[in-house]
Parts: sequence; C-alpha cells; structure tokens
Amino acid sequence: MSEAKKAKAVKGISKALFWLVQWTWGLPVNLIGGLMYLVFYPKCRHGRFNNAFITYVPWKFGGLSLGQFIFMADHGREPWTSNTRIHEYGHTIQCLLLGPLYWFVIGVPSAVWCHLFNGYRGRHNKSYYDLYCESWANKWGEKWSGLKRKNDD
Ligand SMILES: [Zn+2]
Repeated sequence: MSEAKKAKAVKGISKALFWLVQWTWGLPVNLIGGLMYLVFYPKCRHGRFNNAFITYVPWKFGGLSLGQFIFMADHGREPWTSNTRIHEYGHTIQCLLLGPLYWFVIGVPSAVWCHLFNGYRGRHNKSYYDLYCESWANKWGEKWSGLKRKNDD
C-alpha cells in the first residue's frame, strides 16, 4: 500500500471510530445535540468542521458543543469564528473521552463559569479559558484539528 493510500485508510478508520464512539459511549450527549440540530436545521446556516456539524445560530452567545454538533453565533467576525470552531471542536473530542460524564465534567462547570462568574473574572483579571475544561478544549481543539487559535484582543 502506498503511503498516501495508507494515510487515507487510517483516516477512514479514525473517522469510523469517531462516529462509533460518539453514537455509543457519547450517545446521551449526541442525542440532545442531534435533536437541536434538527430543530435549527431549516432556519440556520450550516458548515462542517472535521467530523463535526456546525450550526450558526442567530444568538448573541458564543458557542455550545454537544458531541458532534456545534452551535455558535453567526456574526462572521474573524478570528473569533475560527477560534471558536477550534475551541468547540475540543469539547467535541472531550465527549469521545467522557461520554455521559461530559455533562458533569464539562457541561455544568462550563455553563456556570460562563454565566455566573463574569464579575469574578473581571475582578480577578481571569480569562474565560482559565477554567480547566476551557483551556483543555483549546488544547485538544488545536491538536485534533491541526489548526492554531489566533490572538483575538
Ligand atoms: Zn468551552
């Protein structure tokens, strides 16, 4: 087998594994994500990012990752949009590892940190990405997408 063919075959296996794990171990997260995807499907712009399906929603919020399904704001501002895609894809990969534990290890802490700790972050000069699950998502997003997040000040 040539090197190029081999790389393609390996890629095919990892893609199949990705789907298999998302829809078994990660099923409780992907079911909710898939339902949301169907609800928003007719109204929103869509895109693919590696193995994830992105729905661009007309909300002001940042992003939400539920297994293979990523929901994020559609204001088209760069580098915010590409940074957020990479970050949310990191959460997609976390779901492969954590499966149903995703809700407790990532979902709840992330939502609480996002909504209730805005003032705290301001007072203590903390970044949103200082929370373990958020810096972890950046790291894994970059690793698995092969892309780097850009400075966004
Ligand atoms: Zn996050």
